[in-house]
Amino acid sequence: MKIIDLIGENKMTLSFEVFPPKTETNFESVKAATEEIAKLKPAFMSVTYGAGGGTSKYTLDIAKNIKERYNVPSLGHLTCVSSSKETVRQRISEIKAAGIENVMALRGDIPAGMENDDRSSWDYQHAIDLVLELKEANPDFCIGGACYPEIHPESSNQREDIKRLKEKVDAGCDFLTTQMFFDNNLLYNFLYKIRQAGITVPVIPGIMPITNANQVARAIKLSGSFMPQRFKSLVDKFGCNPDAMKQAGIAYATDQIIDLYANGISNVHVYSMNKPDVARKIQSNLSDILGSDVQ
Ligand code: FAD
Repeated sequence: MKIIDLIGENKMTLSFEVFPPKTETNFESVKAATEEIAKLKPAFMSVTYGAGGGTSKYTLDIAKNIKERYNVPSLGHLTCVSSSKETVRQRISEIKAAGIENVMALRGDIPAGMENDDRSSWDYQHAIDLVLELKEANPDFCIGGACYPEIHPESSNQREDIKRLKEKVDAGCDFLTTQMFFDNNLLYNFLYKIRQAGITVPVIPGIMPITNANQVARAIKLSGSFMPQRFKSLVDKFGCNPDAMKQAGIAYATDQIIDLYANGISNVHVYSMNKPDVARKIQSNLSDILGSDVQ
Protein backbone atom coordinates (compact mmCIF):
# COMPACT_ATOMS: atom_id res chain seq x y z
CA MET A 1 0.00 0.00 0.00
CA LYS A 2 1.17 3.50 -0.76
CA ILE A 3 2.06 5.66 2.22
CA ILE A 4 0.26 8.63 0.73
CA ASP A 5 -3.00 6.61 0.83
CA LEU A 6 -2.38 5.41 4.40
CA ILE A 7 -1.76 8.83 5.85
CA GLY A 8 -4.69 10.28 3.94
CA GLU A 9 -7.10 8.20 6.01
CA ASN A 10 -7.18 10.78 8.82
CA LYS A 11 -6.69 8.23 11.59
CA MET A 12 -3.98 8.67 14.17
CA THR A 13 -1.26 6.17 13.33
CA LEU A 14 2.30 5.34 14.21
CA SER A 15 5.09 4.08 11.98
CA PHE A 16 8.58 2.84 12.82
CA GLU A 17 12.05 3.12 11.32
CA VAL A 18 14.63 0.33 11.37
CA PHE A 19 18.12 0.08 9.92
CA PRO A 20 19.74 -2.81 8.03
CA PRO A 21 22.69 -4.82 9.33
CA LYS A 22 26.16 -3.68 8.32
CA THR A 23 27.39 -7.22 7.68
CA GLU A 24 26.05 -10.66 6.90
CA THR A 25 27.07 -11.80 10.41
CA ASN A 26 24.38 -9.82 12.18
CA PHE A 27 21.74 -10.11 9.46
CA GLU A 28 19.64 -12.67 11.33
CA SER A 29 19.59 -10.74 14.62
CA VAL A 30 18.63 -7.49 12.88
CA LYS A 31 15.99 -9.28 10.84
CA ALA A 32 14.53 -10.77 14.03
CA ALA A 33 14.38 -7.32 15.68
CA THR A 34 12.62 -5.82 12.65
CA GLU A 35 10.15 -8.70 12.65
CA GLU A 36 9.30 -8.06 16.31
CA ILE A 37 8.54 -4.47 15.37
CA ALA A 38 6.51 -5.57 12.32
CA LYS A 39 4.37 -7.76 14.60
CA LEU A 40 3.14 -4.55 16.26
CA LYS A 41 1.39 -3.81 12.94
CA PRO A 42 2.49 -0.20 12.55
CA ALA A 43 1.02 1.86 9.69
CA PHE A 44 4.30 1.30 7.82
CA MET A 45 7.99 0.69 8.45
CA SER A 46 10.92 2.47 6.86
CA VAL A 47 14.29 0.81 6.30
CA THR A 48 17.30 3.10 6.08
CA TYR A 49 20.07 2.86 3.48
CA GLY A 50 23.74 2.79 4.40
CA ALA A 51 25.58 5.81 3.06
CA GLY A 52 27.70 4.74 0.12
CA GLY A 53 25.35 1.88 -0.60
CA GLY A 54 27.38 -0.80 1.22
CA THR A 55 24.32 -2.29 2.92
CA SER A 56 21.89 -1.68 0.08
CA LYS A 57 21.09 -5.34 -0.43
CA TYR A 58 20.07 -5.68 3.20
CA THR A 59 17.77 -2.63 2.99
CA LEU A 60 15.81 -4.35 0.30
CA ASP A 61 15.87 -7.77 1.99
CA ILE A 62 14.49 -6.33 5.24
CA ALA A 63 11.90 -4.12 3.48
CA LYS A 64 10.69 -7.07 1.41
CA ASN A 65 10.49 -9.39 4.41
CA ILE A 66 8.42 -6.91 6.44
CA LYS A 67 6.01 -6.44 3.57
CA GLU A 68 5.64 -10.04 2.45
CA ARG A 69 5.74 -11.84 5.77
CA TYR A 70 3.92 -9.34 8.00
CA ASN A 71 1.87 -7.42 5.47
CA VAL A 72 3.24 -4.15 6.81
CA PRO A 73 3.79 -1.56 4.05
CA SER A 74 7.49 -0.80 3.78
CA LEU A 75 9.37 2.29 2.75
CA GLY A 76 12.82 1.60 1.32
CA HIS A 77 15.37 4.40 1.64
CA LEU A 78 17.79 5.14 -1.19
CA THR A 79 20.66 7.65 -1.31
CA CYS A 80 22.43 8.96 -4.39
CA VAL A 81 25.31 11.37 -3.77
CA SER A 82 28.07 8.83 -3.40
CA SER A 83 26.79 6.51 -6.14
CA SER A 84 27.11 6.35 -9.89
CA LYS A 85 24.06 6.56 -12.19
CA GLU A 86 24.60 2.93 -13.05
CA THR A 87 24.43 1.82 -9.41
CA VAL A 88 21.37 3.93 -8.65
CA ARG A 89 19.54 2.64 -11.72
CA GLN A 90 20.37 -0.90 -10.69
CA ARG A 91 18.98 -0.26 -7.17
CA ILE A 92 15.81 1.25 -8.61
CA SER A 93 15.18 -1.80 -10.78
CA GLU A 94 15.75 -4.05 -7.77
CA ILE A 95 13.22 -2.02 -5.77
CA LYS A 96 10.71 -2.33 -8.58
CA ALA A 97 11.32 -6.05 -8.93
CA ALA A 98 10.84 -6.51 -5.17
CA GLY A 99 7.40 -4.89 -5.41
CA ILE A 100 8.30 -2.05 -3.02
CA GLU A 101 5.99 0.86 -3.83
CA ASN A 102 7.36 3.43 -1.38
CA VAL A 103 10.82 4.95 -1.72
CA MET A 104 12.48 7.61 0.42
CA ALA A 105 14.65 9.64 -1.98
CA LEU A 106 17.70 11.00 -0.18
CA ARG A 107 20.88 12.70 -1.17
CA GLY A 108 22.87 11.08 1.66
CA ASP A 109 25.64 12.75 3.58
CA ILE A 110 28.68 13.76 1.57
CA PRO A 111 31.40 11.22 2.41
CA ALA A 112 34.61 12.50 4.01
CA GLY A 113 37.09 13.20 1.24
CA MET A 114 34.43 14.17 -1.30
CA GLU A 115 33.72 17.63 0.19
CA ASN A 116 36.39 19.38 -1.84
CA ASP A 117 35.76 17.54 -5.11
CA ASP A 118 34.59 19.31 -8.21
CA ARG A 119 30.85 18.75 -7.77
CA SER A 120 30.16 19.02 -11.47
CA SER A 121 31.73 15.59 -11.90
CA TRP A 122 29.23 13.93 -9.54
CA ASP A 123 26.36 11.98 -11.07
CA TYR A 124 23.99 13.27 -8.36
CA GLN A 125 24.20 16.61 -6.55
CA HIS A 126 20.96 16.69 -4.58
CA ALA A 127 18.01 14.52 -3.63
CA ILE A 128 15.91 16.22 -6.33
CA ASP A 129 18.03 14.42 -8.97
CA LEU A 130 17.01 11.09 -7.44
CA VAL A 131 13.34 12.10 -7.18
CA LEU A 132 13.32 12.85 -10.92
CA GLU A 133 15.07 9.58 -11.70
CA LEU A 134 12.61 7.56 -9.60
CA LYS A 135 9.62 9.26 -11.23
CA GLU A 136 11.01 8.50 -14.64
CA ALA A 137 11.69 4.84 -13.78
CA ASN A 138 8.22 4.32 -12.33
CA PRO A 139 5.66 7.14 -12.21
CA ASP A 140 3.71 4.97 -9.79
CA PHE A 141 6.31 5.02 -6.98
CA CYS A 142 5.14 6.81 -3.84
CA ILE A 143 8.12 9.04 -3.08
CA GLY A 144 9.15 10.54 0.25
CA GLY A 145 11.69 13.30 0.86
CA ALA A 146 13.53 14.48 3.96
CA CYS A 147 12.94 17.87 5.56
CA TYR A 148 14.51 19.76 8.43
CA PRO A 149 12.45 21.80 10.91
CA GLU A 150 15.74 23.24 12.25
CA ILE A 151 17.27 23.72 8.77
CA HIS A 152 19.61 21.31 7.01
CA PRO A 153 23.11 21.84 8.48
CA GLU A 154 24.53 22.86 5.09
CA SER A 155 21.89 25.55 4.45
CA SER A 156 22.80 29.14 5.13
CA ASN A 157 19.26 30.13 6.06
CA GLN A 158 15.76 28.70 6.35
CA ARG A 159 14.29 30.66 3.45
CA GLU A 160 16.83 29.08 1.07
CA ASP A 161 16.31 25.62 2.60
CA ILE A 162 12.53 25.87 2.14
CA LYS A 163 12.95 27.13 -1.43
CA ARG A 164 15.05 24.03 -2.23
CA LEU A 165 12.53 21.85 -0.43
CA LYS A 166 9.71 23.21 -2.58
CA GLU A 167 11.69 22.40 -5.72
CA LYS A 168 12.21 18.84 -4.45
CA VAL A 169 8.52 18.41 -3.66
CA ASP A 170 7.48 19.85 -7.02
CA ALA A 171 9.80 17.35 -8.72
CA GLY A 172 7.63 14.53 -7.35
CA CYS A 173 7.68 13.97 -3.56
CA ASP A 174 4.34 12.68 -2.31
CA PHE A 175 5.17 13.28 1.35
CA LEU A 176 7.98 14.49 3.62
CA THR A 177 9.44 13.04 6.79
CA THR A 178 11.22 15.31 9.23
CA GLN A 179 14.56 15.09 10.89
CA MET A 180 14.23 14.41 14.64
CA PHE A 181 13.39 17.34 16.91
CA PHE A 182 12.82 17.59 20.65
CA ASP A 183 10.68 20.71 20.83
CA ASN A 184 7.35 20.48 18.98
CA ASN A 185 7.12 24.25 18.63
CA LEU A 186 9.97 24.02 16.11
CA LEU A 187 7.84 21.72 13.98
CA TYR A 188 4.72 23.90 14.22
CA ASN A 189 6.76 26.93 13.21
CA PHE A 190 8.30 25.03 10.29
CA LEU A 191 4.91 23.76 9.10
CA TYR A 192 3.56 27.29 9.09
CA LYS A 193 6.49 28.48 6.98
CA ILE A 194 6.40 25.67 4.43
CA ARG A 195 2.62 26.00 3.97
CA GLN A 196 3.18 29.72 3.38
CA ALA A 197 5.77 28.77 0.78
CA GLY A 198 3.20 26.63 -1.05
CA ILE A 199 4.36 23.17 0.06
CA THR A 200 1.13 21.24 0.58
CA VAL A 201 2.16 17.56 0.78
CA PRO A 202 1.72 15.69 4.10
CA VAL A 203 4.61 16.04 6.56
CA ILE A 204 5.32 13.11 8.86
CA PRO A 205 7.15 14.21 12.01
CA GLY A 206 10.07 11.95 13.02
CA ILE A 207 10.45 11.37 16.75
CA MET A 208 13.59 9.86 18.27
CA PRO A 209 13.12 8.29 21.70
CA ILE A 210 16.40 8.87 23.54
CA THR A 211 16.77 5.83 25.75
CA ASN A 212 20.36 6.12 26.89
CA ALA A 213 22.58 9.06 27.73
CA ASN A 214 25.25 8.15 25.14
CA GLN A 215 22.68 8.57 22.37
CA VAL A 216 22.25 12.25 23.23
CA ALA A 217 25.60 13.54 21.97
CA ARG A 218 25.37 11.39 18.85
CA ALA A 219 21.82 12.52 18.09
CA ILE A 220 22.77 16.20 18.41
CA LYS A 221 25.89 15.73 16.28
CA LEU A 222 23.93 14.00 13.52
CA SER A 223 20.90 16.24 13.49
CA GLY A 224 22.04 19.52 15.04
CA SER A 225 18.78 19.40 17.02
CA PHE A 226 18.03 21.85 19.79
CA MET A 227 17.75 20.23 23.24
CA PRO A 228 15.13 21.95 25.40
CA GLN A 229 16.06 22.47 29.07
CA ARG A 230 13.27 20.06 30.06
CA PHE A 231 15.00 17.34 28.08
CA LYS A 232 18.50 18.22 29.35
CA SER A 233 17.28 18.02 32.97
CA LEU A 234 15.93 14.57 32.33
CA VAL A 235 19.29 13.38 30.94
CA ASP A 236 21.16 15.06 33.84
CA LYS A 237 18.96 13.36 36.38
CA PHE A 238 18.58 9.88 34.90
CA GLY A 239 21.55 9.56 32.50
CA CYS A 240 23.52 7.36 34.91
CA ASN A 241 20.66 4.98 35.57
CA PRO A 242 19.99 3.04 32.33
CA ASP A 243 16.53 1.74 33.29
CA ALA A 244 15.35 5.12 34.56
CA MET A 245 16.78 6.88 31.48
CA LYS A 246 14.99 4.49 29.17
CA GLN A 247 11.68 4.98 30.97
CA ALA A 248 12.09 8.77 30.99
CA GLY A 249 13.14 8.87 27.30
CA ILE A 250 10.10 6.82 26.27
CA ALA A 251 7.82 9.05 28.36
CA TYR A 252 9.32 12.18 26.75
CA ALA A 253 8.83 10.79 23.23
CA THR A 254 5.26 9.69 24.10
CA ASP A 255 4.49 13.16 25.38
CA GLN A 256 5.80 14.72 22.16
CA ILE A 257 3.69 12.32 20.06
CA ILE A 258 0.48 13.00 22.02
CA ASP A 259 1.02 16.73 21.58
CA LEU A 260 1.48 16.22 17.81
CA TYR A 261 -1.75 14.24 17.52
CA ALA A 262 -3.55 16.81 19.66
CA ASN A 263 -2.46 19.46 17.18
CA GLY A 264 -3.84 17.73 14.10
CA ILE A 265 -0.96 15.52 12.93
CA SER A 266 -2.21 12.12 11.76
CA ASN A 267 0.95 10.00 11.41
CA VAL A 268 4.06 10.10 13.56
CA HIS A 269 7.20 8.21 12.58
CA VAL A 270 9.30 6.83 15.41
CA TYR A 271 13.03 6.29 14.98
CA SER A 272 12.79 2.98 16.79
CA MET A 273 16.41 2.01 16.00
CA ASN A 274 15.78 -1.77 15.89
CA LYS A 275 14.54 -1.73 19.50
CA PRO A 276 11.28 -3.71 19.66
CA ASP A 277 10.87 -3.06 23.40
CA VAL A 278 10.96 0.70 22.85
CA ALA A 279 8.54 0.51 19.90
CA ARG A 280 6.19 -1.74 21.88
CA LYS A 281 6.18 0.51 24.92
CA ILE A 282 5.47 3.66 22.92
CA GLN A 283 2.69 1.93 21.04
CA SER A 284 1.16 0.64 24.25
CA ASN A 285 1.33 4.14 25.80
CA LEU A 286 -0.85 5.29 22.90
CA SER A 287 -3.16 2.28 22.68
CA ASP A 288 -6.42 4.17 23.16
CA ILE A 289 -5.35 7.02 20.91
CA LEU A 290 -4.11 5.09 17.87
CA GLY A 291 -6.77 4.48 15.27
CA SER A 292 -9.02 7.28 16.46
CA ASP A 293 -10.05 10.07 14.10
CA VAL A 294 -7.94 13.18 13.62
CA GLN A 295 -10.28 16.09 14.35
P1 FAD B 1 18.81 17.43 -0.23
O1 FAD B 1 17.33 17.53 -0.32
O2 FAD B 1 19.58 17.34 -1.48
O3 FAD B 1 19.32 18.69 0.63
C1 FAD B 1 20.67 18.74 1.10
C2 FAD B 1 21.13 20.20 1.17
O4 FAD B 1 21.26 20.72 -0.15
C3 FAD B 1 20.15 21.13 1.88
O5 FAD B 1 20.92 22.12 2.54
C4 FAD B 1 19.34 21.76 0.76
O6 FAD B 1 18.79 23.02 1.10
C5 FAD B 1 20.41 21.87 -0.33
N1 FAD B 1 19.87 21.78 -1.70
C6 FAD B 1 18.91 20.93 -2.15
N2 FAD B 1 18.73 21.09 -3.47
C7 FAD B 1 19.60 22.06 -3.87
C8 FAD B 1 19.92 22.66 -5.13
N3 FAD B 1 19.27 22.30 -6.24
N4 FAD B 1 20.89 23.60 -5.15
C9 FAD B 1 21.55 23.99 -4.02
N5 FAD B 1 21.29 23.45 -2.80
C10 FAD B 1 20.34 22.50 -2.74
N6 FAD B 1 21.02 9.25 5.20
C11 FAD B 1 21.42 8.02 4.76
O7 FAD B 1 22.59 7.86 4.38
N7 FAD B 1 20.56 6.95 4.72
C12 FAD B 1 19.26 7.06 5.10
O8 FAD B 1 18.51 6.08 5.05
C13 FAD B 1 18.79 8.34 5.57
N8 FAD B 1 17.51 8.52 5.95
C14 FAD B 1 17.07 9.78 6.33
C15 FAD B 1 15.72 9.95 6.66
C16 FAD B 1 15.26 11.20 7.07
C17 FAD B 1 13.80 11.39 7.43
C18 FAD B 1 16.16 12.29 7.17
C19 FAD B 1 15.67 13.64 7.64
C20 FAD B 1 17.50 12.13 6.83
C21 FAD B 1 17.98 10.87 6.40
N9 FAD B 1 19.29 10.66 6.04
C22 FAD B 1 19.72 9.43 5.60
C23 FAD B 1 20.26 11.75 6.12
C24 FAD B 1 20.34 12.57 4.81
O9 FAD B 1 20.90 11.77 3.79
C25 FAD B 1 21.22 13.80 5.09
O10 FAD B 1 20.57 14.68 5.96
C26 FAD B 1 21.75 14.52 3.85
O11 FAD B 1 22.76 15.43 4.30
C27 FAD B 1 20.71 15.34 3.09
O12 FAD B 1 19.85 14.56 2.41
P2 FAD B 1 18.55 15.20 1.70
O13 FAD B 1 17.89 14.11 0.98
O14 FAD B 1 17.76 16.00 2.67
O15 FAD B 1 19.28 16.20 0.67
